[in-house]
Amino acid sequence: MSQTRIITLFNQSGGVAKTTLTQNLGYHLALKKRRVLLVDMDPQASLTTFMGLEPDELSISIQQTIVDNKPLPIYPEPIHGMALVPADINLAASEMQLSSAIAREYRLKNGLLDVQDNYDFILIDCPPSLGLLSIISLTAATHILVPIQCQFKSFKGTELLLSTITQVRSHTNPRLQFAGFVPTMFDGRTAQESRTLKAVQEQLSEIGTVYPPIPKTIAFADASERRVPLALFDKNHPAVGILKKIANSIDKLELKL
Ligand code: ADP
Ligand code: MG
Repeated sequence: MSQTRIITLFNQSGGVAKTTLTQNLGYHLALKKRRVLLVDMDPQASLTTFMGLEPDELSISIQQTIVDNKPLPIYPEPIHGMALVPADINLAASEMQLSSAIAREYRLKNGLLDVQDNYDFILIDCPPSLGLLSIISLTAATHILVPIQCQFKSFKGTELLLSTITQVRSHTNPRLQFAGFVPTMFDGRTAQESRTLKAVQEQLSEIGTVYPPIPKTIAFADASERRVPLALFDKNHPAVGILKKIANSIDKLELKL
């Protein structure tokens, strides 16, 4: 059986740091000499952009695997020590193009089969929706990691998220496990966020590990503007230590038999 841990970062809300975490956790796993592949499953291709590529200028996209059933198009050179499968805007049409395809939920899972043993970790960055691309990403995963903002409205959204996971488990991926929840963009100065963090820790820890919160800081936007992981922009930033800690926990995730 493959030992590769395939982790899908999922939350149907946008702007909760899915892409930021995919890039940064991948980077810290790569620093630990783990072989890391990042897969961009969002038609907005933010991960591809954060990694320094121009989605419109590439001749490869995950769409080739998802729509055309072709081998996984891995970018020819590693970037910051990680392999990358880029996305582009054409991926947006795939949900329609696949509308009558048989076993379409398994397109990424099948595409990964040929290459997964070359990696210790595969991190999949989802679009902000409950649509087919997210289901395809969750079907391919061994684990799901959920970035969550400590605001009341995002906490409410977890009910919908959990029912999606239940659906995926009962239809396409019974082995899907929770890698846990990462509270993101946490502003400890506001009483409401501190209360919500406490509620997240109390209520969600029954479902999966709740990792230490990542502070809200402009440094992430600065790093992504320079198209590098945070540690390459400011290696002494306090958030770097937290990312490292989370990566260490992810590194210990086990596979269900
Ligand atoms: P998603 O992929 O969930 O839509 P992104 O990772 O693209 O979210 O993040 C959305 C925006 O928030 C980006 O501009 C990113 O730089 C910024 N961001 C990410 N993490 C943090 C943080 N901890 N504090 C402040 N801004 C953040
Ligand atoms: Mg994103």
